[in-house]
Amino acid sequence: MIQKIDHIGIAVKSLDDVLRFYEDALGIKCKGTEVVDEQHVKTAFLPLGDSEIELLESTSEDGPIAKFIEKNGEGIQHIALRVDDIEGALEEMKGKEIRLIDEKPRMGAGGARIAFLHPKSTHGVLLELCERK
Ligand code: ZN
Repeated sequence: MIQKIDHIGIAVKSLDDVLRFYEDALGIKCKGTEVVDEQHVKTAFLPLGDSEIELLESTSEDGPIAKFIEKNGEGIQHIALRVDDIEGALEEMKGKEIRLIDEKPRMGAGGARIAFLHPKSTHGVLLELCERK
């Protein structure tokens, strides 16, 4: 069911500042950016081998990324696991009594369909299930 780590989501204050670090210091190139209004984020994708680093900057003061940074500072916000069938995966999680943040998939960046599992059920990690066609 779960195929690989699709991406690691990192909350940042300023995409421009942080991209300078990833591109100039680490030499990892940004493939593009996208605003996802529904989640109040601007995202930058940095493919790395078979996975990606996803940098997330909040586009509003009370969006989930702004709240995360307020509480924890910049850092890893979520880990996304690639699944081939997100509805099936959510059904399976429900059957195993895993707490879901999203009962139904929603649209994420890059045309992915995503759903989050609650950190209370995952030993402290915000896990995203992510299906890409
Ligand atoms: Zn993500």
